[in-house]
Amino acid sequence: MTDERKVLIESEGLTKRFLHRGKTLSVLEDMDFKIYAGDQIAVMGPSGAGKSTLLQLIGTLDEPTAGRLLFDGVDLFAKSSSQLAEFRNREVGFVFQFHHLLPEFTALENVALPGLIARMPRAEAEDRAEELLTKVGLKERLHHQPGELSGGEQQRVAIARALFMKPRLLLADEPTGNLDLKTGAGIHAVLRELNEETGVTVIVVTHDPRLAEEMPIKLVLDDGRLLPFEAGDDTVGDRIPEELLHVESSNPK
Ligand code: ADP
Ligand code: MG
Repeated sequence: MTDERKVLIESEGLTKRFLHRGKTLSVLEDMDFKIYAGDQIAVMGPSGAGKSTLLQLIGTLDEPTAGRLLFDGVDLFAKSSSQLAEFRNREVGFVFQFHHLLPEFTALENVALPGLIARMPRAEAEDRAEELLTKVGLKERLHHQPGELSGGEQQRVAIARALFMKPRLLLADEPTGNLDLKTGAGIHAVLRELNEETGVTVIVVTHDPRLAEEMPIKLVLDDGRLLPFEAGDDTVGDRIPEELLHVESSNPK
């Protein structure tokens, strides 16, 4: 890997604290990191470490307490709220532990929905939805409703929907949290394939190191820091772009 790769996301002193019942809870402290376009990243870490908070900030669903977050060189939180909404709709796909599919709609309709909301002609939106569902292995399930699909299939639909607008970034927060290991591995495989086919940058939170195993970049969020997984394993360190993680925090907590 060379330095010519494009930096997609860069954080500078990213900090998130919550004020809770009069006490300040420090979740992310002074984080500096770079994520390159096309990266496939797994983020692990104990419950409550701030993994969801980090994804929420990167996806601009929440604002940092301090620090900056640049996307393609542009300061996200300097944008107006309408520009931020546009950013979220166009550039970011979200997948969560619970799929949030509309139960009365078929897989095809669920995936096509972002296109219909963006006033794309129905036929065009459905063609694209079919193409995406085919990519995630659901060509034979286009007209199934979520309740007629398995958990793994439901998540595949959610992934297809998240990619509808051709975002540059896919954020997945424990998308395999409700799935058995084998099904979860299938979801991770789909994420990797989509990354390879479309170049979409993937950040996936998982609690299971076995699922993170196949992702080229494995990070752990703990105590407000993002660190390479398996600090003792040099080969992992070698696969992490040098300046990807450069956490200068003295970690005050
Ligand atoms: P993870 O996803 O790693 O389990 P979270 O990002 O959900 O962790 O939460 C990190 C910490 O921040 C937790 O201690 C949680 O209780 C706290 N937290 C998250 N959201 C809020 C909030 N809106 N108000 C107060 N505390 C919060
Ligand atoms: Mg979480």
